[in-house]
Amino acid sequence: MGRPKDVEGQCNARLYLADDFGDNPMTFRCNLPPGHEGTHEESFPHDGQPKPVKAIWHLDERTLPENEHRLDDNDSDDLDEEEE
Ligand SMILES: [Zn+2]
Repeated sequence: MGRPKDVEGQCNARLYLADDFGDNPMTFRCNLPPGHEGTHEESFPHDGQPKPVKAIWHLDERTLPENEHRLDDNDSDDLDEEEE
């Protein structure tokens, strides 16, 4: 797993959430074109629903200093370096 990879040709802004039980973090990734105006959004199919779910948010949370450590935690590529 690890954090979702950026997709070329898309905005890739992130929104980090946790579920109601507090045990599962999740990440939304904006799949609009780079440099788009207005809110970020991601649309995705969801089990049992005839239409996709769409998430809309304002702030790319990658730009928040408080989230830098969360990016590191979710990046499995960094695990080996931290153990040394
Ligand atoms: Zn966006």
